[in-house]
Amino acid sequence: MKSFLDVVVVGGGPCGSFAALNLAKFGVNVKVFEEHEEIGVPSHCAGHLNISSLKLLGLHPLPPEIVENTFYGAIFHSPTDKEFSIRFSSPVTCAVNRALFDKYIAEMAKKAGAHYSLNSMVESLIIENDFVKGVVVKRENTRKSFPAKIVVDAEGLSSKILRQAGLLAFNRHMLVNAVQAEVENVKDTETGMVEIFLGKNYAPGFYAWLMPKHDGKAKVGLAAKIGNPKELLQKLMAKHPAASKKLRTAKILQTSFHPITLGGPIPKTYSDGFLAVGDTASQVKPTTGGGVIFGITCARVAAKTIHEALHENDFSSGFLSAYQKRCDEILGFDAKFMLKMRKMLNAMSDDKIDKAINLCTKIGLDKPLQNIRDIDFQGRSLLRMLWNPRVPVALLYFLFSYLSANP
Ligand SMILES: Cc1cc2nc3c(=O)[nH]c(=O)nc-3n(C[C@H](O)[C@H](O)[C@H](O)COP(=O)(O)OP(=O)(O)OC[C@H]3O[C@@H](n4cnc5c(N)ncnc54)[C@H](O)[C@@H]3O)c2cc1C
Repeated sequence: MKSFLDVVVVGGGPCGSFAALNLAKFGVNVKVFEEHEEIGVPSHCAGHLNISSLKLLGLHPLPPEIVENTFYGAIFHSPTDKEFSIRFSSPVTCAVNRALFDKYIAEMAKKAGAHYSLNSMVESLIIENDFVKGVVVKRENTRKSFPAKIVVDAEGLSSKILRQAGLLAFNRHMLVNAVQAEVENVKDTETGMVEIFLGKNYAPGFYAWLMPKHDGKAKVGLAAKIGNPKELLQKLMAKHPAASKKLRTAKILQTSFHPITLGGPIPKTYSDGFLAVGDTASQVKPTTGGGVIFGITCARVAAKTIHEALHENDFSSGFLSAYQKRCDEILGFDAKFMLKMRKMLNAMSDDKIDKAINLCTKIGLDKPLQNIRDIDFQGRSLLRMLWNPRVPVALLYFLFSYLSANP
């Protein structure tokens, strides 16, 4: 390996490793620093991913040991256990073991030529005349500088490095605190269906989820704007009219806690010699909190832009701004649409949510929704279905509920 790196990637999560994989494929000399001693550990994510997006990213099929289950649709439960479900004829999403998924991408990156340094925390950026020129890494009580032409920040939500680069971090008002648990002894689930539980008393500002696995266990979790996620999860399992029927006797085997950013991508993701990808850039769907597909989609765009920058020997923010422009083109409209949807959903009372779920069932909204394949890009997918009268009816209901809550 050359001693002067072309690119340093901060963080060996899915977005950092996917950037490294694509850079290495271009023949770029790239090194990933990961603060933990093992890739993918600790894991805090439900790992629910859209199969068609994985295909577009060249990640389908995944090795079978990574995939815990595949799902044909979802069942939505209102706060008083009214139900609305969407079923597809073939699997549309899957649940992956996130630790194995992260390792898989990192292994592919290594095979393509990327270098990894574990147990290595990037403490700070090297900045000269406002230009990012590399990183300072702490490893077993020693510090070492690694000069690089470009630094890719994929540190996740901590955003420490992002702020050093002078960029604004995600909107703290749009942060929810999440808990993800592995449980056993779950009752009355359909193995091929994800279940979503709504209700401000259980998951204020978000929702709770249940994803059955084939081994009789399940992933259960929720996120909330206010309240203690651990206590809310216990309450959900014991008292939610729909969830408690399935989870009252379940045993929690393992829990993890982590925030989710729902405010949509940060306003600026680049500066001189620097790009941000993934959670640190808040490239997360505001409706569902899913960040893997959006993040790795942008990581691939980052790799392409960096490859061009290296070719032109131009690492200025002017050149790297192409990254943001391209990401905006891919997810800007959908992220804005989903942020509006999130705000509408947050503004709705439990009573309104009950009525909305009833309405969705009554008008047969599942029929047009069955045509959606692109559930990651929800704005464009819904636009394409506006010709079906059921879709505008439902959208108008949500809009009026929002407007009546925010006159
Ligand atoms: C409970 C929960 C459930 C979720 N469920 C889903 C889901 O079902 N589907 C989905 O798509 N998304 C889900 N998400 C979101 C998803 O986990 C994130 O969007 C995704 O992990 C972002 O990937 P990333 O690579 O940007 O960051 P991360 O996965 O957070 O990886 C960042 C990496 O950087 C390392 N790092 C940080 N700082 C440094 C440093 N200074 N030096 C070196 N290394 C550093 C960290 O150790 C970590 O390994 C969920 C999130 C939560 C909290």
